[in-house]
Amino acid sequence: MTNEEPTNGKDIERLYRLLPSLNDLLLTASFEALLQSHSRSMVVASARATLAQIRQQISGGQHTPTSLAARVAALADEIASDLALNSRFSLQPVINATGVILHTNLGRAPLSQSALDHIVEVAKGYCNLELDLESGERSRRDVHAESLILRLLRMKTGMVGEELSNDPKAVVVVNNCAAATFLALNTLADRAEVVVSRGELVEIGGGFRVPEILVKSGALLREVGTTNKTRVSDYESAISPNTALLLRVHQSNFSIEGFTARPKLEELVSLGQKSNVPVFEDQGTGLIFSLERHGIKTEETLLESFRSGADLIAASGDKLLGGPQCGILVGRKDIIERIRQNPLLRAFRVDKLTYAALEATLIDHLAETADSIPIVRMLNTSLAEILRRCHWVADQVNSKMLAAEVVSAIGLIGGGTAPGARLQSSALSLQHAALGPQALLNALRRLQPPVIGRISDDRVLLDLRTVEPEFDVELARLLQEDL
Ligand SMILES: *Cc1c(COP(=O)(O)O)cnc(C)c1O
Repeated sequence: MTNEEPTNGKDIERLYRLLPSLNDLLLTASFEALLQSHSRSMVVASARATLAQIRQQISGGQHTPTSLAARVAALADEIASDLALNSRFSLQPVINATGVILHTNLGRAPLSQSALDHIVEVAKGYCNLELDLESGERSRRDVHAESLILRLLRMKTGMVGEELSNDPKAVVVVNNCAAATFLALNTLADRAEVVVSRGELVEIGGGFRVPEILVKSGALLREVGTTNKTRVSDYESAISPNTALLLRVHQSNFSIEGFTARPKLEELVSLGQKSNVPVFEDQGTGLIFSLERHGIKTEETLLESFRSGADLIAASGDKLLGGPQCGILVGRKDIIERIRQNPLLRAFRVDKLTYAALEATLIDHLAETADSIPIVRMLNTSLAEILRRCHWVADQVNSKMLAAEVVSAIGLIGGGTAPGARLQSSALSLQHAALGPQALLNALRRLQPPVIGRISDDRVLLDLRTVEPEFDVELARLLQEDL
C-alpha cells in the first residue's frame, strides 16, 4: 500500500476513528446476510481477527483514508471468503490419472460400493461391535472379520474342511501391516532372537524399516546370509535356545536379480517345525488372486503363504485386497491368543468403520463379485477399453490452449507391491500453449476436483486405467477450463 500523504500521530488517530467497531459491523446489512449462513461466533471471530489486522496496518502507517475506506467497504466479502475457506474440507476427492493403482499419497485402495454402504449403515447408529447378539454377552471385535478371512483363504487355496473340527487358525485385525508386524514381533520375540535374512532387512516405504521395527519391538536381530544369497542352512545354524522366531519379509517392493538364492517359505516352515521355532511372514500385499494375466508371474500371494503352513502371516488390508487400511494377522490359534493378550493390541485395534469396510470387501471376494472392488476392476480393465475412453476424452478437448493426443503408457500397481510389474495402458498426452509440463501438472492439480497426472518424456500424461469411467465426462469438462 502506498502512502498518499504522510501519516503522523494525529492522522493515525483519525484513521482509527474511521474503522467501524465490531458491534457496528454486525449491524450492517451485509453482515446480517453473513449471519444468515454462518454461526455468529465464526463471523465474530473472523471479523475480530480482520479488524485487528487492519488496526496493525494503521499503526504501521500502511493506510490512507482512501485505502482504509476501500478495505472497510470490502470487509463483508473478505470475511465471507475467509469463512468459506475455513469451512472447506481439507481432505477431498481427487482424480487419480497417474496410472498407479495403489498410490499411497492418494489413499491407496478406493473402497467398493458395498463397503461404502456398509460403513454408512453401521456408523450412523449403534452396532454390535463387541456384543454377541446370541448370548447378550461381550464379545471380541475380531469376530467380524475372522471367519470371513479364514473362509476366503480356505476357499481360494482349496484347503476346505479344516475348520470343521476345532479351528486351528485365528485372526487379529490391527491398524495396518506395520502395526501387525510390530505386534507380532513384540508378542513373540521380546528380548529373544529373531532370525532374518540380510536380504530382507529392507525399508518397505514410509519409514517402515524392518531392522528398526525389530529393535523397537524388543526383539534381538540375528542376521543370517548375505544381501543376495541366503540358504536354509544359514537359518538352521543360527537357531539357538534363545531363538523365538524365524522372520520372513515378502520382497514386495523390491527385487534382487542375478546371482541370488532364497529358501522357499515351505522350507523355512519345515525347519521351523523341526526346530520348534515358529515362522512369521510379513506378507504385505494381501494378494489373493494371480497376477499372471498381467504378465506378472513371480509375485507371491497371500494364498501361497497360507498354504505353506507359516505359523503367522501379516498382510495389509488396503493393498491388493482392495479394502480399508488395516493389518491382518492370520495364524495358529495359540499364537493369535498370545497376541490378543498383548496390552499393545488395545492401542493398535481398529474401529467399526474399518470392520464394516473389511467385512464387505471380504464378502465381495467370497461372492466372486471381485470386480466390484475398484482396484480389481482397474487391474482387469482391458487396454482396448482404456484406449477407447482416452479417445473419447481427447475428442472432447477443443481448447485453443490445450492439445490432447492418445499415447501408450505404462502403469504400475504401486503401494510397494509387484515392483517389476508394468501395466500396459493408454493415456492422454497433454500439451499447453503457454504452460510447460510442470506448470500444466500444477494447474491440473488446482482444478476442482484436482486432477493428478504425471510427467513422462516432457509431456503431461493422464492414464485412464486409474480413473473410474464415471469420471470421464467430468475430466473432459475440466480439461475445457482455462488452465
Ligand atoms: C506394505 C507393506 C508393509 C506395510 O504395510 P502397511 O499396511 O502400509 O503398514 C509391511 N510389509 C510389507 C512386506 C509390505 O509390503
